[in-house]
Amino acid sequence: MALQLRPNCEYCDRDLPPASTDARICSFECTFCADCVETRLHNVCPNCGGGFAPRPIRPATSWRDGVSLATHPASTKRVHLRYTPEDVAAHMKRIEAIAPWDR
Ligand SMILES: [Zn+2]
Ligand SMILES: [Zn+2]
Repeated sequence: MALQLRPNCEYCDRDLPPASTDARICSFECTFCADCVETRLHNVCPNCGGGFAPRPIRPATSWRDGVSLATHPASTKRVHLRYTPEDVAAHMKRIEAIAPWDR
């Protein structure tokens, strides 16, 4: 199973196409833009509390058979955060001072 390449930032809904260098993901593939991760979420995933890493870019070219964007296309299902900004703020406050590897 391939990583789910989600089409948007869950927080601000900005488009994050597969080749975007601005996409950030947590270990559960929750997807946000770099701006939201840095300025709003402080490296705390609002869904799971984990940290973020840049989302790898899936090659558009089939350099090997069966492993490219053509054979494993990006998801088109937009995902939206299901918590209120107040809830997210409280969640972050509990977690942001703890380094991701100690969470
Ligand atoms: Zn965003
Ligand atoms: Zn997460």
